[in-house]
Order: sequence, then structure tokens, then C-alpha cells
Amino acid sequence: MHFPYYIFAFAFGSAVGSFLNVLIYRLPRQLSIVAPHSFCPKCRKAIRWYENIPIISFIGLRGKCSGCSSRISLRYPVIEALTGLLFVYTLSRFGFGINFLFIAYFFCGLIVITFIDFSFQVIPDMISIPGIFFGIAFQAINGNFFAGLFGMLFGGGLILFIRVIGGKVYKKEVMGLGDVYLTAMIGAFVGFPFILPAIFLGALIGAILGILYITSTHQNRESPIPFGPFLSLGGASVVIFEPYIYKLFTLLGIYL
Ligand SMILES: [Zn+2]
Repeated sequence: MHFPYYIFAFAFGSAVGSFLNVLIYRLPRQLSIVAPHSFCPKCRKAIRWYENIPIISFIGLRGKCSGCSSRISLRYPVIEALTGLLFVYTLSRFGFGINFLFIAYFFCGLIVITFIDFSFQVIPDMISIPGIFFGIAFQAINGNFFAGLFGMLFGGGLILFIRVIGGKVYKKEVMGLGDVYLTAMIGAFVGFPFILPAIFLGALIGAILGILYITSTHQNRESPIPFGPFLSLGGASVVIFEPYIYKLFTLLGIYL
């Protein structure tokens, strides 16, 4: 693949990232996705097209609204750059075609879920449930239908099991239904047995950061810690490092 294609993939990805920012802001607030046009959340000033160019406008505006000079969250250009980089990666790994669209949906869905769950402790079903079907379709067209199906059943089933048992033991919700759908989506996309390292990585990163968070902010253990961002990180890592994980399985004597 020639270099200009990657430039195009990055530009396209960062534009999609700009739309993901809109979803992250509007979905949990139950605002319409299509109307009105983007506006400053502080002074409500409409954002003009040249103030809405991914990454570049943030730098041009020096991270401040042109109306009220309030700071624009660094989250906006970070998500645009992240989406752009993930599109470059997806193009390099899968080329142009239907696989590109499926994996791009996977990464975009995980970004939206991560940032919404982090701030609102809720995982939008309208992203995860279609993702389950897209994941199964992705596996099916690549001849891995059953890997996708078992990955989905194992991932969703395990979190559902933890939800039911944890609910009985702790008498409170330890895992939301949103986590069940999210893990089912990740399981469908990574397939079985890759769902195992995905959940393991998610739980490991979650445990480490959870302990750091609780000790650094002196919160008690009752404070809710969203699991979605860690599951998402685990799922995305497994897709990105799949060839290496495949080798690791082989070294351990597990032949797939
Ligand atoms: Zn403003």
C-alpha cells in the first residue's frame, strides 16, 4: 500500500473521530445526533466549518472557544488522532474492503463506549448490540463463523455469570447488562479462544488502574469503577497484537 493511502486513511479516520466526539457528547445526554450543528457547550456559539477540522482547528484555536475563550477538552483532538491512527492500522492490516469496515466499526464502537462509560457509567446498547452482529458477520465472511459464535457466547456468558453470582454474593450490581453486551461484541470480533486473553488483559489493566485510582484518590471500594474502558482496551489490544498472541499460544503448546 502506498503512502498517500495512509494519509487519506488518517484524514478519513480523524473526520470519523470528530463524529465519534459528537456521539460521546450527545448519546448519554439523549440529544439528537444530526441536529443541531455542533456548538460550544459553554456559550452555545455555533462552531463554523473551519473551526471543526479535526486536530488542525484545535491547534489553530489554541484549544479555546472563539466565542467565550473557554478551554476545549483535549479529549477532542486526542480522539480524532486516535481514530485516525487506528484507521491507518486497519488499512495496513486488512487493506480496502469489507474487513476494513467491520474492524473500523469495532475500533470506533470501543472508543465511543470507553469514553461514555468512563464519564457516565453506562454503555450504549445501540453501539454494542449491532456490534455483536457485525462481529459474527466479520467472522463468517472470513470462514470463522463458529469461532465468532463461541467467542460471543463465552464472553457474554462469562460476564453474565459474574453479574448473576456477584449480584447474589454482594447484593448489588457488580456488572451491568451493558458489560455483558460489550463482552459479547468483543467475543464475536476476536473469536474463541482470543476472547480469553481479551478478558484477561481487560481485568488485569482494570485491577491495576483500579487499585491506583482508589489509593491515589482515597476513595473507598464502594465507588463504582466502570469496567467497559478496560474490556475495550483488552479487546482492541487482542485485535492489534493477534499475530503475537497466536505465536504465544503456539509456544504454550496450544495449536489453534
Ligand atoms: Zn464558547
